[in-house]
Parts: sequence; structure tokens; C-alpha cells
Amino acid sequence: MPDVAIVGGGPAGLSAALFTAKNGLETTVFDTDETWMHKAHLFNYPGIRSISGSEYMELTRDQVSDRGADVRVGEEVIDIESDDGGFRLETSVASETQRADGDAVDADGEYEADYVVLATGADRSMAADLAIDFADDGTVDVDLDTETSIDDLYATGAMVRDEEWQAVIAAGDGASAALDILSKEKGEHFHDFDVPTDAP
Ligand SMILES: Cc1cc2nc3c(=O)[nH]c(=O)nc-3n(C[C@H](O)[C@H](O)[C@H](O)COP(=O)(O)OP(=O)(O)OC[C@H]3O[C@@H](n4cnc5c(N)ncnc54)[C@H](O)[C@@H]3O)c2cc1C
Repeated sequence: MPDVAIVGGGPAGLSAALFTAKNGLETTVFDTDETWMHKAHLFNYPGIRSISGSEYMELTRDQVSDRGADVRVGEEVIDIESDDGGFRLETSVASETQRADGDAVDADGEYEADYVVLATGADRSMAADLAIDFADDGTVDVDLDTETSIDDLYATGAMVRDEEWQAVIAAGDGASAALDILSKEKGEHFHDFDVPTDAP
């Protein structure tokens, strides 16, 4: 059972997964690979001068997988139910589904998770199915940590922005969700701070 299930593997979802997996939470990302990043070329992502969106996706998926997340490309989440103290997810597996490391996915299509991070881009249908609060402008209503009106359910990236859509903002939202989850798990404010001696 994943501690954290992430629905959508664009910049928002992968960023959330990077932080939670790196810090010891069992993390699964489900992604149908329709990210806008495949249409983009980034010149405005700080620290990276120029990169195609698809190359960014490949690098980031590898980075997140290296840190221990299970990144399932081709597995669509079709239903989420909020249970007492957790969530149940149902997925549909495309025949070509594979993990970022190239292994085939052996999925049973049903999962439970303590936390769910929605990161489905501008597609807010999954959020609407969950009957969470929406803002007047049609975006999903979240607090500064990107938590929705349902405890332990987060919404990140394009779905919480009214047109201010940038990869670095989406990645920041994912990181916010992850730090809030990690703070809840650790029972105090959590900082994912590394120092030069941490580097290999
Ligand atoms: C033409 C174009 C050019 C752009 N250029 C730039 C640029 O130069 N710089 C910049 O910063 N930004 C750019 N952007 C914007 C950038 O691509 C977005 O801000 C960013 O991709 C949003 O990230 P996200 O993680 O919120 O959503 P997305 O990247 O859209 O990712 C959402 C993911 O969720 C998946 N998904 C949806 N529903 C489900 C489900 N039920 N189950 C499983 N998976 C699901 C989708 O398949 C997708 O892979 C551009 C966008 C476009 C369209």
C-alpha cells in the first residue's frame, strides 16, 4: 500500500513524488503521459538554460524513480474514494504500461493510500468527482500547502491556477504538498535541506 498516491506525473506530480520518496514515504505516481510538457520547450526553468519538455520529463522521471518512487506511466486513475482515514483508488492499465525503469507493470488496479496528491493538469474532473470545494474562478480551492477541503487530499499544478501555468510553479506546488505531508508524518515542520557533504 503506498503511503502517498500521486495522480498525474507532470512537473507537479513528479515534484511531489521526489520529495516524499526521497524522505522515506512509499510513493506511487500514476500517469497517462498527456502532460503539456511534451508540447513545451523550457527556457524559463531556473537552473536549466534550455531543455525540451519531453527531455525534462525523461530526466525527472528517472530522478524520481532513482529516489524510490514507483512511476507508472500508462496507468490511469479512474476512481478515488475518500475512506475513513485514507483513500481507495481504482486504476485502468493500458497494455503498454511500464515503470520509468522500463519494467512492465503488474497492476491489480486497486490501491489504498494515506495521502492523495491530485496533479492532473488543467483536467479537474477527478477533483469534481470527489466533491471538494472549488473557487469562484473554477479552480480547485486549496490552502497555501495545496491541501483541499478534504484532509490529506492535495491538489497541485495547473488545476489550482487560473491560467498562470508554468512548469516551475507546478513543481513548487508539488513540493509544497509533499512538505506538508512529510510534516504531518514527522509531527513537526519538516525541511528537506541537504548540504554539500550529502553529495556523493
Ligand atoms: C504549447 C505549450 C508550451 C508551454 N511552454 C512552457 C514553457 O516554455 N515554460 C513553462 O514553464 N511552461 C510551459 N508550458 C506550461 C507547462 O507545460 C505546464 O505549466 C505544466 O505542464 C503543468 O504541469 P502539471 O504537472 O500541473 O500538469 P501536466 O504537465 O499537464 O501533467 C498532468 C499529467 O496528469 C496526467 N493525468 C491526468 N489525468 C490522469 C488520471 N486520471 N490518471 C493518471 N494520470 C492522469 C496527464 O496525462 C499528465 O501527464 C507550456 C504549455 C504548452 C501547452
